[in-house]
Amino acid sequence: MPVVETAALTQRFGATVALDRLDVAVPGGVTGLVGANGAGKTTLLYAVLGLRRPTSGSVRVLGLDPVADGSELRSLVGFAPERNVLPDEMRAIDFVRHLAEVRGLPRKEARTRASDALWLAGLGEERLRALGTMSTGQRQRVKLAQAIASDPRLVLLDEPTDGLDPVQRNEMLALIRQVSSEFGVDVIVSSHVLDEVEQVCDHVVAIDAGRLVASGALSDLVGDRSGLALELVEPADSPGAAAAVEAALAASGLKVRRDGLRLVVEGADHGELCDRVRDAVSEASAGLRRLDSRRHNLEDLFEDRAVEEMRA
Ligand code: ATP
Repeated sequence: MPVVETAALTQRFGATVALDRLDVAVPGGVTGLVGANGAGKTTLLYAVLGLRRPTSGSVRVLGLDPVADGSELRSLVGFAPERNVLPDEMRAIDFVRHLAEVRGLPRKEARTRASDALWLAGLGEERLRALGTMSTGQRQRVKLAQAIASDPRLVLLDEPTDGLDPVQRNEMLALIRQVSSEFGVDVIVSSHVLDEVEQVCDHVVAIDAGRLVASGALSDLVGDRSGLALELVEPADSPGAAAAVEAALAASGLKVRRDGLRLVVEGADHGELCDRVRDAVSEASAGLRRLDSRRHNLEDLFEDRAVEEMRA
C-alpha cells in the first residue's frame, strides 16, 4: 500500500489552482517532493495532514482519509513546517515533549522520547536551552526532533534545509537518511534544491504549477542516462552552424537542447554520441570549444517538461 496516494487532487485558492488534478503514489523510504517556490509542495503536505479539505479529488495517507480520520492520523504522522513556528521563550525539551503529548503519548514517555529525539538530532547538550537563543541550524534540528518524537510512521519535512549553510545542510540530509534507515520511518521531504534531493531520496515526486512533472524511483528518473554537453564556435563563414548541428542531431533521433552555442545531447551510448556529435559538427562546419560528459539529473526533468510545453 502506498504511504500517500492522491487521485485527481485539486486545491484552489480563488483563481489560483495550487494543485491541479494531481495523481501520485508515494511508496515507503525517503521521497523528495520537488518543485520551484509556489509549485504546490506545501499545499500538498497540508492536504496529507488533513489541514484543508481538497476542492476536489482525494488523498489517502497510510490508508486513512486525513480529514475524516484526522485524530488517528495525527498520532501516525510527524510534521516539521517550513516557517519558523518555535516559541522563543520555551526550552527545546519542553517544546518537543509538549508536542509529543499533544500527539497522544503519555507524559512520562513523551519526556523520554523528546530527550531521545533531541539527542538523535544532535541537540542533546542543548536540550535545556530556550529556543529563542538557538541558531537557524539548531532550530531546524528542533523541528526535526519534534516531528519524530512521537514515534510516527511517516514524517513530513517542509524545506528542512532552508537557511542552512553547506555543512549544516549535509548534516541535516544525513539525519534524514538516518531517521529512515535506522528507525524505519517513511519520510517525505520537500525541497526546491534538486541536488540535495538527489543526495538523500529513494523516490521523487516532481511538481510544477500544481501539476505532476514526474514521479518514480530516483534511479529510474535520473538513471544511467548520460549525455554530452558541448559548446560550439560559429566561424564567420558559417552563421547558424549551431542550429544546423542541433537539427542534424535531432533528425538522427537524439534528444537535443540548445541554448545559443551550448547544446546538451542524450539518447545513445557514450561512444555513439561522440561519433554523431563529431559528424554533425564537421558537416555544419562548426568549431568545438568544449565537450563534456554529463549525467542526466533532476533538473533535466523540469527542462524536458518546459520544452514539451513549448512544443505543445
Ligand atoms: P514555497 O516553497 O514557496 O512555499 P510551495 O511549492 O510550497 O512553495 P505552495 O505554498 O503550496 O507552494 O503554494 C502554491 C500556490 O498556491 C502559490 O501560488 C501560492 O501563492 C498559492 N497559495 C498557497 N496557499 C494559499 C492560501 N492560503 N491562499 C491563497 N493562495 C495560496
